[in-house]
Amino acid sequence: MPATLLQRSLTAVWHPCTQMKHHETLPLTPVVGGEGPWLVTEDGRRLLDGISSWWVNLFGHCNPRINAALRDQLERLEHVLLAGFTHPPVVELSERLAALTGGALGHAFYASDGASATEIALKMSFHAWRNRGLPHKNRFLCLEGSYHGETVGALAVTDVPLFRDAYAPLVRQASTVPSPDARRAAPGETAADVARRAAEALEAHLEAENGQVAALILEPLVQGAAGMVMYDPEYLRLARALCDRYQAHLICDEIAVGCGRTGTFFAHEQAGIRPDLLCLSKGISGGYLPLSVVLCHEEIFRTFYDSDTRKAFLHSHSYTGNPLACRAALATLDIFEEDDVLAANRKRAESLGRLLEEAFSGHAAVRHLRQRGMIAAFDVEGAADDFSRRFFAAALEAGALLRPIGNTVYFMPPYVMDEPELRALVAAAAGALEQTLA
Ligand SMILES: *Cc1c(COP(=O)(O)O)cnc(C)c1O
Repeated sequence: MPATLLQRSLTAVWHPCTQMKHHETLPLTPVVGGEGPWLVTEDGRRLLDGISSWWVNLFGHCNPRINAALRDQLERLEHVLLAGFTHPPVVELSERLAALTGGALGHAFYASDGASATEIALKMSFHAWRNRGLPHKNRFLCLEGSYHGETVGALAVTDVPLFRDAYAPLVRQASTVPSPDARRAAPGETAADVARRAAEALEAHLEAENGQVAALILEPLVQGAAGMVMYDPEYLRLARALCDRYQAHLICDEIAVGCGRTGTFFAHEQAGIRPDLLCLSKGISGGYLPLSVVLCHEEIFRTFYDSDTRKAFLHSHSYTGNPLACRAALATLDIFEEDDVLAANRKRAESLGRLLEEAFSGHAAVRHLRQRGMIAAFDVEGAADDFSRRFFAAALEAGALLRPIGNTVYFMPPYVMDEPELRALVAAAAGALEQTLA
């Protein structure tokens, strides 16, 4: 009998973020097609993509407008190196991203994935201080529970023990400061009170590190991989002010929360601040192609601008600024403008919130139902160790792709799910929860 796609995959493909042995009991799902918020499996089932295929997909699978832009670009130029050469898509994308920051972050440096964007931001921050004659500023601060990618450099600012601990001897660990996690509010306290307390701890760290901090890196408003930890924008305002006072860069990692995910195009806008360095990836190409970018302001760019080659930022990736990926990003930005996506998402997020309230707010095991724009989550009390895997399997059975983080069930749908689809997604989650807890 010929081997199935599933069997061949388990033999030849080493799957990410997976204990391969678990697939002895947990089936792998072969997907052969996509259509809007739906994934089509090899056996003809349709699954609602409730987490945008790991937070990347914004406008559905096989989006006709992004497809058309890519077809057009394919007939023109697939790739050219970006050292010594340039091309229309990368120029237009850089200008449009700068405009989206109100012109504040006018220089775009490209890579292919999020972890590389983190590495670039860390190296750029340190090197900028070094170029200014301050090489002792080489320490980084990150938030408790932070996730900024899993390459060795990015693990230094990633505080997820499961991903980090095995490699601890390889990593020069950053200092971790308390998370402003709104769930920590004591009775009578607001999320802003928690933010102010966390900012006091941040200040104590900056003080103790004695001028050696190059940058604070954080995920604005929602710490994704920590389990959709949400916090008040007040923390960003205070962190911005403290970074200024202690001469540290503020790096906003908007790889997950950028591109409209939290309600504004960039999450940091909700605090009325700008970072010194901004990392984008995931949704920027609409979920089509690997692309990441670090935006920085003029002052940082200027510290590298010199006749001395060693002062230059010599970092590179083979596929830096790939034209196809940039075209997918431009088509994505076009959709944001043409369809007024942020306004449409306000309604979509309201529907999602209402449906979740109806299904879960009175549930005995559900805690901390929370939402920021197109991200919603709740924690499950009394969840077993294998809750996440069992819920995932039960949701698949019920027709939805939902992949809890520990005991946190979260929803991050693409910006094309309509009300009936959101309703079906929430119903699948409710069924999966009952089955998992039974
Ligand atoms: C996903 C993610 C990354 C890493 O991006 P990859 O493309 O997976 O390397 C970094 N930071 C945040 C906040 C992320 O969500």
